[in-house]
Amino acid sequence: MRLVLVGPPGAGKGTQAEFIAAHLAVPKISTGDIFRSNVSQGTPLGVEAKRYMDAGELVPDEVTINMVRDRLAEPDASEGFLLDGFPRTTPQAAALDKLLADLGTALDVVLELVVDDDEVIRRLSGRRTCRGCGKIWHVEFDATTREGICDRCGAELFQRDDDKPETIATRLREYAEKTAPLVDYYGAQGKLVGIDATGPVEDVTVRAIDALRSYGG
Ligand code: ADP
Ligand code: AMP
Repeated sequence: MRLVLVGPPGAGKGTQAEFIAAHLAVPKISTGDIFRSNVSQGTPLGVEAKRYMDAGELVPDEVTINMVRDRLAEPDASEGFLLDGFPRTTPQAAALDKLLADLGTALDVVLELVVDDDEVIRRLSGRRTCRGCGKIWHVEFDATTREGICDRCGAELFQRDDDKPETIATRLREYAEKTAPLVDYYGAQGKLVGIDATGPVEDVTVRAIDALRSYGG
């Protein structure tokens, strides 16, 4: 299955992506994770992306599209994938359609995680990520047993630089202006399915898997 997750920052895309990708047995491809890994390794791509990420803005389309093109060319993505955080603009969506069409294939479905702004702000303000295994936690909604230490692998947790209140506000504005139009873009293709992404993580996963069933998932 070729699947895209769309929704505002903090909707729970990364959290759900892990479970859904495991359920579908496809690789999870998160552009945010790829950018962050380039930033921490200090690659030229990371140096360029960091300027935008720190400001809460989107990395330019050309840079992002080239990065995804390279990632989708890897063998593990040939039979299916779950994209988390890409596309985020209409030109990115059009580039993905073209890229897949050139490979003789297409997206199967786009899953929209629907959450309101207040909930998103609560989620982003308390988000913590594990430095070791990348698992996403929350200080209140999904807390670890020992503060600051991952229950799964024992490594240290960190707070993302872009989860500061001023950057969160910019990211939500970027979403509303540039990413929200994708709902209509994919709606017009008949590929969009939206689910309520509030409530316990496990309940959202069940709703997601149910919604994907009619698309072959
Ligand atoms: P995104 O990838 O869409 O930016 P994340 O998956 O990183 O969002 O989730 C943002 C924060 O919200 C994290 O701290 C995560 O633990 C928390 N979270 C995710 N799903 C839920 C949920 N259903 N209820 C409460 N908190 C959640
Ligand atoms: P995320 O981890 O998905 O919240 O992404 C973190 C940041 O990485 C975003 O705020 C952007 O600066 C950048 N980013 C991730 N995916 C994209 C994308 N598809 N297009 C542009 N910028 C992106």
